Amino acid sequence: MLAEQPMPPQAFYTPRGRWRAEKLLTYLKKIKPPNADFIIGITDEDISTTAHGYEDWGILGQAFVGGQVCICSTHRIRIKSHNEYQYNRRWEKLVLHEFAHAMGLSHCTNRQCIMRDAQGTINTLDEEETLCSSCTALLEQYYSITQCRKQRTAEITAQNNKYH
Ligand SMILES: [Zn+2]
Ligand SMILES: [Zn+2]
Repeated sequence: MLAEQPMPPQAFYTPRGRWRAEKLLTYLKKIKPPNADFIIGITDEDISTTAHGYEDWGILGQAFVGGQVCICSTHRIRIKSHNEYQYNRRWEKLVLHEFAHAMGLSHCTNRQCIMRDAQGTINTLDEEETLCSSCTALLEQYYSITQCRKQRTAEITAQNNKYH
């Protein structure tokens, strides 16, 4: 875990007093240590980007798809959640959504999938359950998770065999 960083002043959007997500992503990419595969930025500040026909639209999070960085803000979830349970569930899903973008996944049409497009509302988060099977398969394909696991098992087996 990196030490807490000050918000980069160049990302501040003065007319609305909030922070531009794409500029935060550029900043995060710059400070990502070379030995880190990914970086997840977390802030309590309100963040925004140009979307849905608005110059400055408040958002929950943003990522460079496949770009190894994402930013997640607690701000909107905090003010729009009715209780701690709802807040925690939404937060978990948001972080997974943005992280999966950073890993290379795009949006998914499955209503229960974490990678569903929020379309500018927070409510879609409540219908989502998990990563659907096709999104999981894509991640497997990108990162050869199964392949790594098989290889690791083979290594362990080989090692154990030495002692027999
Ligand atoms: Zn998304
Ligand atoms: Zn999916």
